[in-house]
Amino acid sequence: MNVHDSEKIAGILCKEGYVPADDPGTADLIIFNTCSIRQKAEQKFFSELGRTKSLKKKNPRLKIAVAGCIAQQQQDAIFRRAPHVDFIFGPQSLHRVNDLIRGVSHTAFDEDNPLMADSELPVLRKAGGRAWVSIMYGCNNFCSYCIVPYTRGRERSRPSENILREVEQLAQSGFKEVTLLGQNVNSYSHDTDFPGLLNKINSVTGIERIRFVTSHPRDLSEKLIRAMSEFDKVCEHIHVPLQSGSSKVLNLMNRGYSFDDYRGKIDMLRNAMKNLSITTDIIVGFPGETDDDHKDTMKALKEIEFDGVFAFKYSTRPRTAAASMDDHSDAIKSQRLREILDIQDGITLKLNKNLENSILEILVEGISENDSTMLTGRTRTNKIVNFRGNSSHITSIMKVKIVKARKHSLLGSLV
Ligand code: SAH
Ligand code: SF4
Repeated sequence: MNVHDSEKIAGILCKEGYVPADDPGTADLIIFNTCSIRQKAEQKFFSELGRTKSLKKKNPRLKIAVAGCIAQQQQDAIFRRAPHVDFIFGPQSLHRVNDLIRGVSHTAFDEDNPLMADSELPVLRKAGGRAWVSIMYGCNNFCSYCIVPYTRGRERSRPSENILREVEQLAQSGFKEVTLLGQNVNSYSHDTDFPGLLNKINSVTGIERIRFVTSHPRDLSEKLIRAMSEFDKVCEHIHVPLQSGSSKVLNLMNRGYSFDDYRGKIDMLRNAMKNLSITTDIIVGFPGETDDDHKDTMKALKEIEFDGVFAFKYSTRPRTAAASMDDHSDAIKSQRLREILDIQDGITLKLNKNLENSILEILVEGISENDSTMLTGRTRTNKIVNFRGNSSHITSIMKVKIVKARKHSLLGSLV
């Protein structure tokens, strides 16, 4: 979501005549678009920000700005800690960046700005065939650990005709895949519901793949599961964050479902779609999580066998309900994280090995970051595949035979 916000900021600036700089040393404007989901991101940002002070001495015309959730949450602290910052703005105020550059104000923070939901901001996207499209902003869930409702405000959905127009324009510019973005896409609601929106997008000529993140398990309906299995362009992958395998911890997290509820949804998904890939998020070391709760999470991973897991150490966030609860030591959290990742690595590798020798459709995204002689792309199930090919294949959908499974990617060869 943050990366897509950066594409919007860049889109607005390019429309004004700005061009991207090759490196910060040659830029006249540097905007940090920050994330505050965990404390570690904040620490990294403040040390990066400190380093830009010397750039300003070399180039007095340079303007430095801070956008995103850290800006929203620490408005005064940023100017206090870094007086060389020129202006700051929150994730609901991207459309005001030009005014800020012109010096109309030093800050822009809109709460629950409906404008963002209705306006169509220009977007500077990277070529590669895949595009992100916002369908809603904010979140109403207030999970007890999460800062998002405080920084991105209440839930607002975009009218489906605006979304559809954006997707049609993307198809005309050669994009083949769209990923619909929202903190809880299952509660999308405007002139239609989320399955209705998928139905509309499924009919856009030129778009061949539809993905979405993130699905909240509580709101994952039978209607959505039916839509996923019926609409041919909706990919066979779903990201459904579990967070914990212990119903007690899920309750403390205010997630609104028990482990059994979650398990039931997974069974429904798997019954409806045979080769569906399922990924999840896990938080380890939430306050009150005992050894037994942690074991429940490990048991859940073994039982469900996710295709992939993003696991995070719990990080206390200001203003959230869990901030007043007793935190575990970092040693306990690190140990639990290691145990989760060890279990999952084995499962991911096992599931990936099942794909060896199969022939899959890959949307080619670009040159592999680790090996410039290889192309990289994804299966419909969202697995990364690297293979040798010609750069003219980028943005095409190619048939690739999987020759070797690795933990985080697959090695393939063009058929
Ligand atoms: N809206 C999405 C998640 C957005 S945040 C959802 O509800 O599924 C992405 C992930 O970051 C979350 O799923 C959670 O696992 C993790 N996360 C959020 N707040 C966190 C915190 N305070 N500490 C550690 N991980 C956190
Ligand atoms: Fe945060 Fe929960 Fe909303 Fe996701 S659903 S953004 S975890 S409050």
